Amino acid sequence: MKVTVMGGSGRVGKAAAFCLAEEDLVDEMVLISRENSLDKIKGESLDMNDALAAKDIQVNIMASCDMEDMHDSRVVVLAAGVPRQNGMSRQDLAGTNAQIVAHYARQIAKYAPDSIILVVTNPVDVMTYIALKESGFSRNKVMGLGNHLDSLRLKNLMSKHFDIHVSEIHTRVIGEHGDNMVPLLTSTTIGGIPVERFRNYDSFDINQIVEKVKSAGEYVISMKGSTEYGPAFAISNIVNVILKDEKKILTVTSYLDGEIEDVHDVCLGVPVKLGIEGVEKIVPIKMSQDEKESFLEAVKVVKATTLEVLTKFQEEE
Ligand code: NAP
Repeated sequence: MKVTVMGGSGRVGKAAAFCLAEEDLVDEMVLISRENSLDKIKGESLDMNDALAAKDIQVNIMASCDMEDMHDSRVVVLAAGVPRQNGMSRQDLAGTNAQIVAHYARQIAKYAPDSIILVVTNPVDVMTYIALKESGFSRNKVMGLGNHLDSLRLKNLMSKHFDIHVSEIHTRVIGEHGDNMVPLLTSTTIGGIPVERFRNYDSFDINQIVEKVKSAGEYVISMKGSTEYGPAFAISNIVNVILKDEKKILTVTSYLDGEIEDVHDVCLGVPVKLGIEGVEKIVPIKMSQDEKESFLEAVKVVKATTLEVLTKFQEEE
């Protein structure tokens, strides 16, 4: 099992690589960076190996700026790109990151043509679309991390409100990884019991909680400069489910072709069955009227941004 992380010197890339290595699932991991960061990723790989030895885990971690070294990777995590600074929106990154993602997606197609791409770079819904088009991969092989992390954040906040262990909270956020995310409250249960049956449901202000989920990343960035552990563990979840062919339903950014609300030609967060083939099925869901309207608003916004970024990108190419 071989996995490559592009942007391996970055805070998210290196944390994800370590998290994955610690799962004792992959035999080989390649951290890719540009030449200027080669020493940094070499240092990271040595440090990681020391830590893994303490846990009796052996992973061959290679630091490289040679794209050929990703050959035969099962999954390539694409985490290279400019991150948000305090006060920036994810959309502010779109122009710069489109160039980076397009370039790396072509390299993946050339050197790891049988891999699955997990896009992390923001704005992730738009970047997933660009990676899909530029790699030429089939749509099941390209997905993005966004709403899985949002769903974990929502789980955490609900766990606190209801004072119940986080593992008992089953909920999901779909739509945009951004302001137009949609919590699926009608599909939310705690320990198998619909959330609205709980006694303290009346004091559960979903709008306020969703605002907290929306600003969770920004809030962390304002305090420590970046998010790391949250995205890293969310990436590790997704890669694990793929490599172990678990067929679990996770929410990842996927290309839609009419499976939900007849939406076509856009990448958005939706529930999917994940396995060794990547997105093996987009799970069709029935939403409440409110959820449906919010989801369609997310479609409108992400489609418009994707078109804007693509037009600009094609002019610059
Ligand atoms: P970071 O610490 O600044 O690292 C950025 C990484 O991108 C470095 O590895 C760097 O590679 C690479 N990079 C920067 N400019 C590049 C360029 N012009 N060409 C090629 N590579 C370039 O950033 P981070 O905090 O890890 O965040 C990385 C990305 O993940 C950002 O876009 C961020 O917004 C996104 N993110 C997404 C989520 C999500 O849920 N989807 C969560 C958190 C962060 P070198 O080693 O070559 O310099």
